[in-house]
Amino acid sequence: MNEQKIQEIHVVGAGLAGSEVAWQLVKKGHKVVIHEMKRIKKSPVHTSNLFAELVCSNSLKSMDLKNAEGLLKEEMRLFGSLILDCAMENRVPAGKALAVDREKFAKCVTEKLLKTGLVEVVDEEVKEPGSEGIWVIATGPTTDGELAEWIKKVTGGVLNFFDAVAPIISAESINMDVCYVADRYGVGSGDYINCPMNKEQYEAFWEAIVNAEVVEMDDFDRKLLFERCQPIEEIARSGKDAMRYGPLRPVGLRDPKTGKEPYAVVQLRKENVEGTMYNLVGFQTRLKWGEQLRIIRMIPGLENAEILRYGVMHRNSYIESPKVLDKFLRLKSDPRIFFAGQITGVEGYVESAMTGLYVGLNIARLVEGKEMVEFPRKTMCGALIDYITSAHELKPMYANFGLIGGGKNREKVAQKALEEMKQFIESTGEKHIEGGI
Ligand SMILES: Cc1cc2nc3c(=O)[nH]c(=O)nc-3n(C[C@H](O)[C@H](O)[C@H](O)COP(=O)(O)OP(=O)(O)OC[C@H]3O[C@@H](n4cnc5c(N)ncnc54)[C@H](O)[C@@H]3O)c2cc1C
Repeated sequence: MNEQKIQEIHVVGAGLAGSEVAWQLVKKGHKVVIHEMKRIKKSPVHTSNLFAELVCSNSLKSMDLKNAEGLLKEEMRLFGSLILDCAMENRVPAGKALAVDREKFAKCVTEKLLKTGLVEVVDEEVKEPGSEGIWVIATGPTTDGELAEWIKKVTGGVLNFFDAVAPIISAESINMDVCYVADRYGVGSGDYINCPMNKEQYEAFWEAIVNAEVVEMDDFDRKLLFERCQPIEEIARSGKDAMRYGPLRPVGLRDPKTGKEPYAVVQLRKENVEGTMYNLVGFQTRLKWGEQLRIIRMIPGLENAEILRYGVMHRNSYIESPKVLDKFLRLKSDPRIFFAGQITGVEGYVESAMTGLYVGLNIARLVEGKEMVEFPRKTMCGALIDYITSAHELKPMYANFGLIGGGKNREKVAQKALEEMKQFIESTGEKHIEGGI
């Protein structure tokens, strides 16, 4: 490949991820071409022409180190994250959360990038990357049109448009005095944890589900939803016994404590190889988050369930990163092309920015002739990158301690992760340049 041309770096989409990619490059003196379509065409969720627009809440979630989101931020700050620097500069009071004035925040990101003089902005809707140079696709969860078609082509037709995720809970919050390990008819290697219900418990649970509050959705989403899979509350509404003949069927799941099959069983399946996270099988749901917590805690053995990730059902485009991307978020089939942001399978503003930081940092290394580097696995950033590039069945994921494991003392886990990240920075020479450039 032509050495001169490969130095050209193009970022498609100046959202949370794309802006962070560009920042990690310009602060090291590299030029970046940003291709952003907002001035010509806006996605259904964007309204301003500024970079890094927060499309919904103005909160970047917790700053508390005992919270996974807090740890994620603290790790990113070690690298001089533009998104976090601007968030801190434009903070509005919100307790332990990092909430921002969204207009000032987006202005800050846009101005800091443009002020460097190293960013060229091309106002266009990119339909596919150019044939030369390095390209980063950071077009977010609403990617559509010709670019989506191109992505489908290069990723083997995989671009999910619907996100139906069952809640995920931490393994350590499951009461194994009540639940038991068993595979249906004994076929398997102890992959499932089962929560047994008697008739009374099942009926109370059914009653609670059919009366719980759900998140409303528009007709387009409703149609997609029913084409794909039924939420648990819809199954429940179709009849009192529907759940126990469906996802809660107990056949072949004898409880070793009684020697009998229970009346109904909620099955939990490992979400990660380490077995620190479990999902509720067949529980894709539109229930409001508060309702999910209340109802899940009615399940015998899950009275103290810690929900790591709530169930959701909504439109969301993301690729099957474990299949098509390498550890550096490059297309396996064309390593000139990187992906960053929510489209890689992370979920959330800060998580999206983090993947941008990772990609920007590694592209800088690449063009400087250095080895690319992977974040340590026991940091929140590293655990998230590891998850989206190796999950057996990728589900959009936000930061949570289940990804790292390491015990219930979150403060200790967080301190260890931060130490690891500092050592990583030291050993790779990735010094944080205070205040950028
Ligand atoms: C409706 C909705 C609400 C959300 N609410 C929250 C929330 O409250 N909290 C939270 O943490 N997360 C939320 N998210 C999830 C996620 O964090 C955000 O979507 C986040 O903005 C993703 O960052 P990103 O950089 O990947 O994409 P985006 O921020 O969406 O940026 C993508 C950019 O690419 C541009 N673009 C797209 N296609 C092209 C093209 N072909 N050519 C050129 N430019 C293009 C777009 O104009 C946009 O500027 C929400 C998502 C959605 C869809």
